[in-house]
Amino acid sequence: MKDYIKVDEWKIIEEGFDPKNNLVSESVFSLGNGRMGQRANFEEAYSGETLQGNYVAGVYYPDKTRVGWWKNGYPEYFAKVLNAANWIGIDIRIGGEQIDLAKNRVDDFRRELNMKEGYLKRSFRADVGMNLVDAEVTRFCSIVDDETGVICYKFKPIDVEPHVVVGVTPFIDGDIKNKDSNYDEKFWDEVNKGVWPDGGFVHMRTKKTGFEVATGMKCVVLVGGKPVDFKPEPIVKDKYIGSEYRLYVKDCEEVVIYKYAANISSQNYPVDQLEEKLKETLDRISAKGFEKMLAEQADAWVKKWEHNDIIIEGDASAQQGIRFNIFQLNQTYTGEDDRLNIGPKGFTGEKYGGSTYWDTEAYCVPFYLATADPKVTRNLLLYRYKQLGKAIDNAKLLGFKDGAALYPMVTMDGTECHNEWEITFEEIHRNGAIAHAIFNYVRYTGDEQYLADYGLEVLIAIARFWAQRVNWSEDKQQYVMLGVTGPNEYENNVNNNWYTSTIATWCMKYTLEVAEKVEAADKSKFDALVAKVNFDKQKETAKFRDIIEKMYYGYDAKLGVFLQQDGYLDKEQILVKDLPASERPLNQKWSWDRILRSCYIKQADVLQGLYFFEENYDIDTIRRNYDFYEPRTVHESSLSPCVHAVVAAKLGDEARAYEFYLRTSRLDLDDYNNDTEDGCHITSMAGTWISVVEGFGGMRIRDGKLSFDPFLPEKWQSFSFNVGFRGTSIKVTVSKDRVRVAHLSGPDMKLLIRGHESELKAGTSVARHTVQVTLTPPPPLSRSNNN
Ligand code: BGC
Repeated sequence: MKDYIKVDEWKIIEEGFDPKNNLVSESVFSLGNGRMGQRANFEEAYSGETLQGNYVAGVYYPDKTRVGWWKNGYPEYFAKVLNAANWIGIDIRIGGEQIDLAKNRVDDFRRELNMKEGYLKRSFRADVGMNLVDAEVTRFCSIVDDETGVICYKFKPIDVEPHVVVGVTPFIDGDIKNKDSNYDEKFWDEVNKGVWPDGGFVHMRTKKTGFEVATGMKCVVLVGGKPVDFKPEPIVKDKYIGSEYRLYVKDCEEVVIYKYAANISSQNYPVDQLEEKLKETLDRISAKGFEKMLAEQADAWVKKWEHNDIIIEGDASAQQGIRFNIFQLNQTYTGEDDRLNIGPKGFTGEKYGGSTYWDTEAYCVPFYLATADPKVTRNLLLYRYKQLGKAIDNAKLLGFKDGAALYPMVTMDGTECHNEWEITFEEIHRNGAIAHAIFNYVRYTGDEQYLADYGLEVLIAIARFWAQRVNWSEDKQQYVMLGVTGPNEYENNVNNNWYTSTIATWCMKYTLEVAEKVEAADKSKFDALVAKVNFDKQKETAKFRDIIEKMYYGYDAKLGVFLQQDGYLDKEQILVKDLPASERPLNQKWSWDRILRSCYIKQADVLQGLYFFEENYDIDTIRRNYDFYEPRTVHESSLSPCVHAVVAAKLGDEARAYEFYLRTSRLDLDDYNNDTEDGCHITSMAGTWISVVEGFGGMRIRDGKLSFDPFLPEKWQSFSFNVGFRGTSIKVTVSKDRVRVAHLSGPDMKLLIRGHESELKAGTSVARHTVQVTLTPPPPLSRSNNN
């Protein structure tokens, strides 16, 4: 846990330079625009500890997995998003000495991420050899021109008489490695490179996957406000180009370097056009100029915030936390491209390889549904639709047939590419999250056409998988689901995981419902699909029904709780609160053997099911399960606290709900789990949003309407959030004694507040119609104790 980040409602601020925090800061201050992302590495040389990271969305490398114990169905490779050419580098020498903050004495260091306007600013005074230098650097990844990034690097030497010789070398370096390379390999080969009078480029190709990226720069250098009137010296090395400017700089004279850069990828253009497109892009942005680009960036971010912001009054630290989460989510995924997805670390580090996990469907979809155009979520669904063929192949590899699909646990292009056989392989519950996201999307948007066009095809394939994955137990005279891993990864290869069995039968039920709906709405479309996927409607639906009816779910009648899996109660039941603090986190302190045998739960498992399907359970059932499982949960996945926050809020346990919220909201800002140096927990940031909107705001969809059942955390004076629903945009404000929903734009809508239906009408251009309901205090919390 760290607390060096200064609290500010719109900015993330670090004051004073401590190299020990640098890796964490490089993650926290990361920039991205959905198409490219950049850790907060320094432009100038830095010989201290650093994790270089410049990522181009969708460009990955299949790194051969490192397992000695090969099994059929084991993936051959682990796909990683690649650390690509360094576009930010500017080498600076003052009187022959390099600026290197690991070696120089550094004063007045300040790093500031401006979330409102989307840029990073850094300033410092460094003692470089015999000379002092003051520097201020601003950079951003443009969300207006999403293949580009720009830097304005200003510095002035101090106390130099009459002048000092300064060397400035902006460069592009393609000789880059991934830190997590399994065999210490470099993943990029050079295709071409070139220099221009004001810049140059390197054109690289990935090994195996053959992605090509041309990365280039155009630079403008000013001394004392005047552009330099000579050509820089070109420097050309293996996979590297630079432009060296040798300058005579007077005392306190300002040097300004504008570096315009772009990453142009073969994902988007034919390879033979990359260099031309790069040149064109650089000409365009440099003609526009840094200031104009920055102003456009600020405008574009202000527009994003209009849809996304959550305002918390009375708690600046919570305000900073939630804005940071929303900011990072928007930097990671914009929904423009259905080939892209959301890696658990986004563009902020290498861990999890930038690949797609069930995190997207289970945690991110609610955020994008409510805060972005429906096409954004639709693109996330289409990403999976397009990978259906590979999911069917993946299932085939494991012995399934007849069009059954098992989506990968970890993927870039639809192929399974996880690195850890034992843990993730049997987490087949991910198939359920993919079906649930279709349900969620249609429930939220009302876009039933999606089901006929794409959704049903995916659902049939998933339902087929479940129908083949269960088996009939003669002993129980019921269907059982053996050998799975639930969301709780601290138990592997268990039988009858309640969550997995529940979501499996739910998928089958939903498939039946959707099949009927599509058939009734568009018979010819339905028939075409039946023919395409060879769906034996009568036989297959009968099988689904039989399984739904006769599925086994573990239940303990004495405790009145669902059994996480067979044998869970045989474990030694010592609660987390009784574990010595020195033994946690378990994943760092205990052997894997000990973890597997213990009753400790990594993240919501039974409770994940109760969160997804809460309408199917009465409040006492939810309470009993929460009271039983939460005290056994160590929350060692960042995805855990948010689900608990929502369930706790539903049960009226406001204090715990707030506690869980705090754990997710400032997880990276405070480096809560000591792992932010690997990158930020991007997918769990959507969970933070869920905690506020679904937890404190109590937002749900009921019968096609938005519904709110909010409470105000004690420390806050009020909070408000904007959501969009079926073309209408609203602002919900929860204060001590009331909730106010204001119509912002779009058609009139009906909504429920604390169970009462109201009609929210579109206002005139000035006045907005609002609905105000006085809240009654929530019922007192009665926690039954089953422990
Ligand atoms: C969690 C998984 C999650 C993965 C990526 C793991 O720690 O247990 O549920 O999918 O991280 O975020």
